[in-house]
Amino acid sequence: MSTHTELHNQVAAILPQIVAFRHDLHAHPELSGSEDNTARKVSEALTAAGIAHETKLGGMNGIVATIHGGKGTGKTIALRGDMDALPITEENEVPYKSQNPGVMHACGHDGHTANLLGTALVLNALKDTFAGTVKLFFQPAEETVSGAETMVKAGCMNGVDAVLMLHGWPDFAPGVLGLRVGPAMASSDSWKLTIHGKGGHAAYPHKTVDPVLIGAQLVTALQSLVSRELSPVEPVVVTVASFHAGTARNIIAEKAELLGTVRTLNKAIRDSMPERMERIIKGICESFRATYTFEFTPGTPPVINDSSVIALVREVGEELFGTSNVVELSEPTMGAEDFSFYLEHAPGAMVRLGTGCPYLLHTPKYDFGDAPLETGILLMTETARRFLGA
Ligand SMILES: [Zn+2]
Ligand SMILES: [Zn+2]
Repeated sequence: MSTHTELHNQVAAILPQIVAFRHDLHAHPELSGSEDNTARKVSEALTAAGIAHETKLGGMNGIVATIHGGKGTGKTIALRGDMDALPITEENEVPYKSQNPGVMHACGHDGHTANLLGTALVLNALKDTFAGTVKLFFQPAEETVSGAETMVKAGCMNGVDAVLMLHGWPDFAPGVLGLRVGPAMASSDSWKLTIHGKGGHAAYPHKTVDPVLIGAQLVTALQSLVSRELSPVEPVVVTVASFHAGTARNIIAEKAELLGTVRTLNKAIRDSMPERMERIIKGICESFRATYTFEFTPGTPPVINDSSVIALVREVGEELFGTSNVVELSEPTMGAEDFSFYLEHAPGAMVRLGTGCPYLLHTPKYDFGDAPLETGILLMTETARRFLGA
């Protein structure tokens, strides 16, 4: 029997179990940081298959399963799936509709978790065909951007040579893969600015330092970073998302509070943004006689896909599904993914997996569906085996 026939047979054998597993997760979604039952179900399925794993990584619901190849020592590849759901009320009428009011798998992480479990089962069945080690990361709290960093701090990336993830993508038909070398998703950092002015009567502005006027100058001045300071061919987003000040029409406020986000695809530009922003904030606040407090809180780095890992995924994808089902992603997105924390420690790739769902991610009718599972499991299993010399 050829290894491809064996691979397809193994996937076919576990697929009904994995489809049922996804339905169960979809019906019982859990919010970021509260994935207790999801993690317990993953752990039980791994135990039933005799796959060694650690639970409660870093005090959260993360699980790392480890499968050693039967052909001796070698490289290590990590595969990641996220487990958390979102605070959205599901509007799909499906037998596995969410039974947890106000919570649903609107980003398809039910599919990612089921896909990774299926991959674990198949790799475990085929472990005599490769050398080295596969680590499987069942990650909590992706949507709140704390799961990956916690798992990395707990040491999950020690000894890992490459790391791979799939994310369901509604723009493509089920079974279609979207690949991109280099920047794929942006960094996401947040900031908070408080402008301390001097309040007073709105009829006597000359006796005050008006934080609303200063904030208004800053909202426009900060955009000059993107339009006049950084190269127009470097994508950067500086968003002032919230601006709060004042209590009544005849009072000039004591302070104004502005909140926002910064997105980039370039690590050096990302690192330079706090200094660039504060220079403008300081200059404008000083010129208008105000003081300020500025807090810049780092979130996630950009997701930069490694060319050799993408080349391997492309080779495997084209071989298994045909060249027409492997497409080039024309552009990155300014969305963020905490998968980038793993990429700080090893080269890797985020691959888009078509779901064909007519609804957008993070909306009440999104559904990962059953159709992408077979493709996802085949791709992850074969990419891992190929990386490990099978
Ligand atoms: Zn999401
Ligand atoms: Zn997601």
